[in-house]
Amino acid sequence: MSSTQQNRQETGAEPATDFGAVIVGAGFSGLYMLHSLRDYLGLSARVLETGDGVGGTWYWNRYPGARSDSPSYIYCYSFSEDLRQEWDWTEKYPEQREMRGYLQHVAEQFDLNRDIRFSTQVVDASYDEDTKRWTIRTDSGEEMTAQFFIAAVGALSSANLPDIAGRDTFAGERYHTGQWPHEGVDFSGKRVGVIGTGATAIQAIPLIAREAEHLTVFQRTANYAIPARNGPVDPEVQQQRKADYDGIWDRIRQSYFGFELWFEDHGALEDPPEERERKYQAHWDEGGFALWLGNYMDIFFTREANDTVSEYMRRKIQERVDDPETAEKLTPRDHPFGTKRVPLETNYYEAFNRDNVTLVDVKSDPIQEITPTGLRTGDGGEYEFDVLVFATGFDAMTGPLNNINIRGRGGRLLRDRGRGGRLLRDKWAEGPATYLGLTSADFPNMFTITGPQSPSVLSNMPVSIEQHVEFVSRIISDMRERGAEVIEAAQQAEDEWVAHTQEVAHSTLLPQTATWYMGANIPGKPRVFMPYLGGVGNYRQHCDQVAANDYEGFVFSS
Ligand code: FAD
Ligand code: NAP
Repeated sequence: MSSTQQNRQETGAEPATDFGAVIVGAGFSGLYMLHSLRDYLGLSARVLETGDGVGGTWYWNRYPGARSDSPSYIYCYSFSEDLRQEWDWTEKYPEQREMRGYLQHVAEQFDLNRDIRFSTQVVDASYDEDTKRWTIRTDSGEEMTAQFFIAAVGALSSANLPDIAGRDTFAGERYHTGQWPHEGVDFSGKRVGVIGTGATAIQAIPLIAREAEHLTVFQRTANYAIPARNGPVDPEVQQQRKADYDGIWDRIRQSYFGFELWFEDHGALEDPPEERERKYQAHWDEGGFALWLGNYMDIFFTREANDTVSEYMRRKIQERVDDPETAEKLTPRDHPFGTKRVPLETNYYEAFNRDNVTLVDVKSDPIQEITPTGLRTGDGGEYEFDVLVFATGFDAMTGPLNNINIRGRGGRLLRDRGRGGRLLRDKWAEGPATYLGLTSADFPNMFTITGPQSPSVLSNMPVSIEQHVEFVSRIISDMRERGAEVIEAAQQAEDEWVAHTQEVAHSTLLPQTATWYMGANIPGKPRVFMPYLGGVGNYRQHCDQVAANDYEGFVFSS
């Protein structure tokens, strides 16, 4: 029975097909968007979600070791005082099961599940200029209409399975970390290959190494990983935080990255080497992102400043790896520290001291093809395994949006003439173009939560997600008050925002490194720096100023 039939049978009535808003995605973003529109504004809203449960990232990423890199006390919602007080975190960096449990709890607590349609993928969304409504079509061919189309599709939800020759000939078990089987994977007694050494692989490798008979890791780019120093949450500290939640959230909302981390007030080279070393060591001992996001600010801007911390990190990595050749392979020398997303690790480097772990450098000797029994490299290296794990990341930020045929203004008119309207992915062929990372000109009444050109992935994301959801809700509420039916970005405002995001990014070292921030992990993807690097607090203030200036940059119509 299809979910539509089931829904009809349960309610005994035709299910609604017209909504105030259709929201795509039931992760952190979609859940709060639904609660906000439905329970604060009284709008009819429907969430559509590919997965068969809530959680988004925390529904899909069930690989061994999957846990947050943001501390639990701020990797959560702030919008409900009851929720803040009633939920107790067990660990500093909660594992996937706990994160998903939290989001399931939120869905139950706020009675969200009744307005979510699971196992439903959105394939098309077109704006009709005559009716001023979006038509949304799902993979089962079902259609629904809505005044607002809100893509809460996630920035890291479209798995990247690289198109390596022979990929589909592999006869053993094959998994992508972002689509991990719900029943788990038994590695015991098996030979395992892992492709990738990003944040995901760095969490998974130490655990797979403990279980597998042999693990071969294929590394293209060595990473600078910082110790997480995870541990149980001290109940006393938890209570202190609960007593000061308002203070904590006020601070992180105004911070640069959405954490309780602040830059030094002077540059790295202004401190003598011993003082710099002392600070780096203190951050290293503390663990977490402090060494990256709570350090000297100029490590993001100048090579000289950055070299001091890059060198420090290289030393730290080398100290932990026994075999000098392996240590050298694990030491990044091709990009400055912090220009790729810095992973947190627990026993990652030590995993390479085990007899059953081999590291293969596939930058100097690239993977040539995947074979039925394993993998072959260009120089003739042959590797055999029973299980192949792709820890190869995501088509980030634009991928999940471009997976949907989103047609904006002119869509229906052109489609009626058999040519189809302008697709968002065509508009973005040279790179994403948005106003505030929230809207795109010619796509009226459409919003993206943590879309490209918003702080999103360069922040502790729930802080950004709450800001986006609340800003979108405020726009919709204000539209009602002024009797407007339609809102969209003005082209000039969009052009200026795009230019601003690029100017900010290019004042730093980040665009010089090939990263998924730049689209560099996906062949053919335009090389444009996608997230907004201007800071969470500054971005929030800018959005508030836009609203205070009568929504400058937006055009309303009725
Ligand atoms: P998601 O959680 O990605 O949810 C989007 C949902 O939309 C998905 O469930 C997806 O199935 C659905 N969807 C997409 N397209 C469609 C479609 N066409 N039709 C129907 N449904 C669709 N961020 C941090 O700040 N701190 C962390 O510690 C952290 N840890 C992370 C760990 C991992 C392993 C990963 C991959 C990411 C992590 N992130 C972290 C980023 C994380 O994605 C965000 O923190 C947050 O969970 C995003 O929530 P979201 O709702 O915006 O997107
Ligand atoms: P990723 O950072 O993009 O890493 C993918 C890895 O696969 C890289 O090492 C990459 O090498 C390699 N790779 C990709 N294609 C390859 C190919 N064809 N041949 C060989 N190697 C290939 O992906 P991820 O590790 O899944 O992390 C993505 C993001 O998700 C993170 O940056 C982070 O934002 C988020 N995340 C967060 C957490 C957390 O907070 N706890 C955990 C996991 C993920 P190159 O580097 O050379 O491209």
